Amino acid sequence: MPFSKLGLSPQIQSALKKSGFITPTPIQEEVIPLVLNHHDVMAMAQTGSGKSAAFVLPILELWSKSVSEGKPKIKALVVTPTRELTLQVADAFNTFGADLKREPKVVSIIGGESIGDQIYAIQQGCDILVATSGRLLDVLTKKQTNLSHLEFLVLDEADKMLNLGFSQELDAILEAIPQKRQNLLFSATYPQKILDIASKITQNPIRVNIEQDVPTVESVVQRAIEVNRENRGPLLRHLLDTEKLEQVLVFMANKRATDNIAAKFKKYGYKAESFHGDLFQDERTLTLDEFKAKKIRILFATDIAARGLDIENVSCVINFDLPRSPTDYVHRIGRTARAGRSGMAISFISHEDRAHFGIIQKRCKVNIAMEQIEGFELKGEAAIKGKGPQPIKGKGKSKKDKAREKRV
Ligand code: ADP
Ligand code: MG
Repeated sequence: MPFSKLGLSPQIQSALKKSGFITPTPIQEEVIPLVLNHHDVMAMAQTGSGKSAAFVLPILELWSKSVSEGKPKIKALVVTPTRELTLQVADAFNTFGADLKREPKVVSIIGGESIGDQIYAIQQGCDILVATSGRLLDVLTKKQTNLSHLEFLVLDEADKMLNLGFSQELDAILEAIPQKRQNLLFSATYPQKILDIASKITQNPIRVNIEQDVPTVESVVQRAIEVNRENRGPLLRHLLDTEKLEQVLVFMANKRATDNIAAKFKKYGYKAESFHGDLFQDERTLTLDEFKAKKIRILFATDIAARGLDIENVSCVINFDLPRSPTDYVHRIGRTARAGRSGMAISFISHEDRAHFGIIQKRCKVNIAMEQIEGFELKGEAAIKGKGPQPIKGKGKSKKDKAREKRV
């Protein structure tokens, strides 16, 4: 089904075309008509399923049909968990609203920038406000922002907002907006805490659940290289040099490891940075911008930092440490080959990773041939299981590893 069947105006369709959006994703196909029919929606779909456009497009459509004369009034408020997502969503409103007869004035409210400038921007005229909840609250306490004309409230990536003192912030936001409004909730998962939040916001939402068991990522070339754990750093350097890899996103198990290895690679003369949740927002934005601008070649990241972000231009994903679950594997390799581009994903497999990687392949329904690279061949043997000598205490799998294998 093409976008034209969803009831969007020719102006929005032309903007879609310019962005290379030809057919709606499943979540868009379901949610757009519901929003256009003024329903509240609670949608569940995985990262990368196209949730942003699922609310951006119909809100633009309804907004463009209802614009009144005079100074813009804030009609839509989108709350997101991070600065990066706020900017991405604001971008989407601007991109898809670019051909409308009257372009929407979109303002982003994020931490790390002058609050005075942001309030000024709102006062200059704002139709659509996109904000992180903490900063929005700061803006609201200054009592200079009028949200009484609001028609749409959107919570994007709601499940990422849990541990940020979000519940109180939300209460304050709800106080500032009209009770009668259209509510849209987007989340990859719906744990109880999110359901509680949802019940504060909307009474009768239509639930949309896009099942994506383990999606396939067909356009990604998937490779696996056997290597001893201590040789992974040298192998990575070898691959960067011999295969001329550019814009590489390397996944590590924890924050400390990303910092350490990024420092090491910088010493070796590579343009490398780490990317994880402990960095300040402005550091994260700067790093992402530099990666996009190709000033950074290698980004060492944790799963949490990379989830949900539309990091473009990734040509190669490296699983330096394997992800915990098959779903995480798909999320990671889905960072490359976005929007029709092709990409490559390489997993480093040591003795310890074999069984776990087997499970990942099975669940993802792929069968990846193991490679060895000259000079970095896998040495030694895996710990012998079952028959034969008992494994030496301390050398076997930890309880954590065993639990992990059961979990996936
Ligand atoms: P989610 O919020 O579900 O993680 P996004 O809305 O960020 O997903 O979309 C993921 C990526 O897919 C973005 O790069 C976006 O531009 C692209 N995309 C979304 N919908 C479409 C579509 N219908 N056609 C082509 N590309 C799309
Ligand atoms: Mg999103």
